[in-house]
Amino acid sequence: MRNIRLFWQIFPACVGITIVSMLLVAWLAATTGREFYIDHLKEEIRERALLIEPTIAVLSRGEDRPFQDFVRQTGRRAATRITVVDAGGVVLADSNEDHALMDNHGKRPEVEPALAGETGYALRHSRTLGESMLYAAIPVKLGADQHRGALRLAIAITPVETMLAALHQKMLAIGLAVTALAALLSLASARRISRPLEEMKQGAEQLTKGRIDQLVKINSEHMSVEMAGLAASINKMAEQINRRIRVIIQQRNELEAVFSSMADSVVAIDADQKIIRMNQAAATLFNLPSEVVKGKAVEGVIRNAYLLEMIAFTLTHNLPQEQKVTLFKGGEPILLQTHAVPLRDEDSKSMGMLLVMNDLTKLNRLENIRQDFVANVSHELKTPITAIKGYVETLLDGALDDQDNARRFLAIVVRQANRLDAIVDDLLTLSRIEDREKKEEIRLVTSAAGPVLESALQTCAVLADEKEIVVQVECDEALHAPMNLPLVEQAVINLLKNALTYSPSGSLVTLRGHGSRNMQGEEFVHLSVIDNGPGIAKEHLPRLFERFYRCDKSRSRDQGGTGLGLSIVKHIAHVHNGTVEVESTPGKGSTFTITLPAAKPEQPAIVVS
Ligand code: ADP
Repeated sequence: MRNIRLFWQIFPACVGITIVSMLLVAWLAATTGREFYIDHLKEEIRERALLIEPTIAVLSRGEDRPFQDFVRQTGRRAATRITVVDAGGVVLADSNEDHALMDNHGKRPEVEPALAGETGYALRHSRTLGESMLYAAIPVKLGADQHRGALRLAIAITPVETMLAALHQKMLAIGLAVTALAALLSLASARRISRPLEEMKQGAEQLTKGRIDQLVKINSEHMSVEMAGLAASINKMAEQINRRIRVIIQQRNELEAVFSSMADSVVAIDADQKIIRMNQAAATLFNLPSEVVKGKAVEGVIRNAYLLEMIAFTLTHNLPQEQKVTLFKGGEPILLQTHAVPLRDEDSKSMGMLLVMNDLTKLNRLENIRQDFVANVSHELKTPITAIKGYVETLLDGALDDQDNARRFLAIVVRQANRLDAIVDDLLTLSRIEDREKKEEIRLVTSAAGPVLESALQTCAVLADEKEIVVQVECDEALHAPMNLPLVEQAVINLLKNALTYSPSGSLVTLRGHGSRNMQGEEFVHLSVIDNGPGIAKEHLPRLFERFYRCDKSRSRDQGGTGLGLSIVKHIAHVHNGTVEVESTPGKGSTFTITLPAAKPEQPAIVVS
């Protein structure tokens, strides 16, 4: 059934009831009044008839003329029609008409009972007189033989009808006025009932629209007690719902924040293999905006057969799984530790699943580096140890007796021991730098670059002299940078040692310090070691700063190199927020440059974290 507004339910009902009541009252009043009036008239005519009945009886025994005259005159005087009818229904006299012309009245409804000895009444429209008449007939003894006849009296009831009509009109007017008043009153009451309900409805609608920032309170003034109570209950309910919604929104935001900031890639999938949600990490992993994938089929988003297989298995069997899956992104392999976990609702019914992927690529790379490093260190240490062991055993086996060979072997043992010492020294240096870096113990003090280059030169002067290599220093005196002097000096010494080691005798090595400024106005200090040595082939350049990397292994070892010098330089540059770069042309020479951020004017000492 169609819903009707409360107003239209109350208002027409009230007006309808009023109209029906008014009509009923009017009908009752009209009918009862008329009946009462007619009854009263009946009685009156009967009494009039009884009054003249003896006279009629007497006169009917005598001559006809006085009899006729009496009937006519009495009728005129009393404004009543008088008719005398004999037992056969023949009209003997009539006050208004010529009785001789009148038809038989024996069958008239009022005459019939009178001829039978009763009083008869009738109410009808008289064709003769053209108006409504009330008839009353009583028995009468006529003539000398006293035979039974009927004396009929009739009066017009038109005035009564006119009066009743006027009464009806008045009642109609009163009825209309009462109905109008009732309509106005019911309109006001219907409004009073429906308006607060309307307000409550609007309040509830706003609540359903989730406008929690605009909680509408229903104003209960001018309301009935019941309505005010209902409004108060709704207000209270709205407040509670509002509070709960806020809590839910807060919890949702918290979950959202956790979900999106998770480092692991998380994808929620429903039972129909459609994406419910995907966090930022997953969106980045699959190269898709997280909003776009909502509701999409997993096949269109995750294009990896192993992952799709895992998803299908978990959804079908409702079982968790864990696997390592390799995904290719831009041609690069990404190793993912993948967990597929079924999602269940409170009744343990399957709702879908969660795919959680942890990128192990970095961890894997670090693990590989660690393994390589351990293998490299072992190998580097093993070589001199094996040599030392071999020569010492040879000596013990009798070579000691051969003075010349014994001396030669012992010299080799010393050289290998020095190499061991150098490797351990370099390893310790690296580990110390890392350790101090971790403990934030590396103090940087703004210092001039020139003295650092001079000091490195002094340290390597003996080696330079041995190889008759001229080392020149070119440095701008104003060049200052925040530095840890021992470390930067160590880095320059390592580069200078390499230059001296790998350059031919009699060549030239330059230590240069110069400044620069980039587009953003940031200033830098560059410390370069330039040699005219053999240079380095292009293919070695990308790996040159790795630990134990050497271009020519045997040559490096022969020269007493450990393969750690450049990685120490790189690390020192790193703790200064700087870099180290190499430019080299085989056959022409190499330029190694340490770049450090320049000191800002009056920069205080800072600690690198
Ligand atoms: P090493 O102890 O072997 O010198 P480094 O880490 O200092 O180890 O250097 C790595 C390798 O880079 C060296 O083995 C050498 O082959 C090459 N190299 C370093 N500096 C120079 C240079 N100035 N000229 C030519 N090759 C160099």
